[in-house]
Amino acid sequence: MTMEKGSISVQSQNIFPIIKKFLYADHDIFLRELISNAVDASQKLKTLVNKGVVKSEIGDLTIEVLLDEEAKTLTIRDRGIGMTEDEVKKYLNQVAFSSAEEFVKKYKAENTIIGHFGLGFYSAFMVSDKVEVITKSYQKNAKATRWECDGEPEYFIESSDKKERGTDVILHINEESKEFLDKNRIESLLKKYCRFLPIPIQFGTKTETTYEGEGEDAKEIATEVANIINNTDPAWKKSPSSLTDEDYKNFYNELYPFSQPPLFWIHLNIDFPFNLTGILYFPKLSQQLEVQKNKIQLYSNQVYVTDDVKDIVPEFLTLMHGVIDSPDIPLNVSRSYLQSDHNVKKITGYITKKVAEKLQSLFKKDRELYASKWEEIAPIVKYGMLTEDKFYDKAKNFALLKNTEGENFTIEEYQDKVKSNQTDKHGKIVFLYANQQTDQNTFIAAAKNRGYDVLLLDQIIDNHFIQHLEHKNDKILFVRVDSDTADNLIQTDETVESVLSDKDQEKVKTLFETVLKKDGHSIQLKALTKDDHPVMITRPEFMRRMQEMQRLQGMGMGGADMPDFHQLVINSNHPLIADKLLKMKSEQKKEDFVKYLYDLARLNQQMLKGADLSSFINRSLEFVS
Ligand code: ADP
Repeated sequence: MTMEKGSISVQSQNIFPIIKKFLYADHDIFLRELISNAVDASQKLKTLVNKGVVKSEIGDLTIEVLLDEEAKTLTIRDRGIGMTEDEVKKYLNQVAFSSAEEFVKKYKAENTIIGHFGLGFYSAFMVSDKVEVITKSYQKNAKATRWECDGEPEYFIESSDKKERGTDVILHINEESKEFLDKNRIESLLKKYCRFLPIPIQFGTKTETTYEGEGEDAKEIATEVANIINNTDPAWKKSPSSLTDEDYKNFYNELYPFSQPPLFWIHLNIDFPFNLTGILYFPKLSQQLEVQKNKIQLYSNQVYVTDDVKDIVPEFLTLMHGVIDSPDIPLNVSRSYLQSDHNVKKITGYITKKVAEKLQSLFKKDRELYASKWEEIAPIVKYGMLTEDKFYDKAKNFALLKNTEGENFTIEEYQDKVKSNQTDKHGKIVFLYANQQTDQNTFIAAAKNRGYDVLLLDQIIDNHFIQHLEHKNDKILFVRVDSDTADNLIQTDETVESVLSDKDQEKVKTLFETVLKKDGHSIQLKALTKDDHPVMITRPEFMRRMQEMQRLQGMGMGGADMPDFHQLVINSNHPLIADKLLKMKSEQKKEDFVKYLYDLARLNQQMLKGADLSSFINRSLEFVS
């Protein structure tokens, strides 16, 4: 048997149904594809004129979208390079044959041509019974051509009397797609896909009202003007040096009307090893983080692709807003392909790096301003530090810690600040923190009384952030101010002498144990200073963290939540204990007094509620009256 070499030819007969069904999940994409072709044809003409290949005037290149509801047609009309009869045969009759690459190579055109695949044109058949193309090439003496095809492989071609240069693509919209004969539908699609295309797109006209004269005599003048859909020169395409802060803010407003002005922005601009431009904004974050997520819009040569950029932008940056434009990001491909795409991976790394550099430079340039916005950017920065090691390495130099006095420090600065006074007996530098400035006031005050500094870490992400910092830096230990009595927050070898004899200490302990038996606390007697409260409730750091983690992961041990674990600490050196309580004669009085001190401790930890709180208030009222 002889071996025969050949190539598999793709028959459009077979491929049409596939394109119709699978290439584009959204039928409305056809409009983006056809307008992209019109833009390409216009850009090509510009290139030819710039290179001196074509000597004639460019003229007005505005692309028109014309809707004829009665004839059930939608026409896309450009004044670009058009096609000769041969070109029509070559490009429109062979599926998957694109002139884009050829053109870019031949004319060394900048990479502004959108087309890649040679499939876009066929998306017209997703919504049409019949497609007509009437076109006239820019070439001298070119004859206009009319091509017609009803979606079957047969097509008709004949000469046409079209006078102007360019191409009309006329879609005879099919019955299932009649939504595309609705003016509002088309206008909103144009606004979605074409908002920043580089060639003006006109859709009908609109009325513009101006006033002549002033005050009451002002005359209203209505004029019909072209309804231009797009801004052909969006900010991200301009050079950063030509833009003012105002320009950046205005562009933000153009993207997201009626929102609060952004905090900072980053102008992205790179052409090697891939091409990417864009502007990313740090928005003013509100409480509803979810609503603000995934708002970055992805463009390819100014053509809108998607606002689902999860796979291109690192997860932690999906809270940012703005635009990314890259012709290197594949337009029409599936999610899984995107994730493994080489360029996409590089882009992710690049964006992360840029964001870190920007923050670093803001921090260096104007620390005060940076610190004033820290709270708002902190969730993004902290999330980034948690999830991207490369980002952590940079961000550790500009991530800020704020203390309860409102002063801010970098991690290293803070380490230096507290090192001498807050190093424990194991050599760890203890970072004391509160997560609720008002509720933990007494604990903060007690720590400060000892000359300690207290950080305020009150964001949702801080639980994780703390763990992560400890994990990354084994010199640091975080301890919450209410996790122990102030003397014990930082474990040293120092002890305070008890003023009570062993026997009296035992007495006090037994008394508390008997009275508070039913609450089942673990009770500890400690010799503290007179300034510490007589009775305190603490939540040991380790137990609390375990519990928080369990809650976050939503897994109860054996179905139930870990119970709140508290430690009851009695300060045996406090005069109310050492003196007053021990000297009381009546057992009833002692019991009432113990209960009262216990309630005060509970009040301090927001644990006194409901009936217990009412009874406490009533008893207090009795005491004072
Ligand atoms: P792509 O745009 O990816 O190249 P298409 O299937 O959309 O693929 O188009 C195939 C080719 O047909 C284009 O590369 C171009 O040469 C030609 N073409 C399509 N639309 C136009 C148009 N409006 N004006 C001039 N040429 C066009």
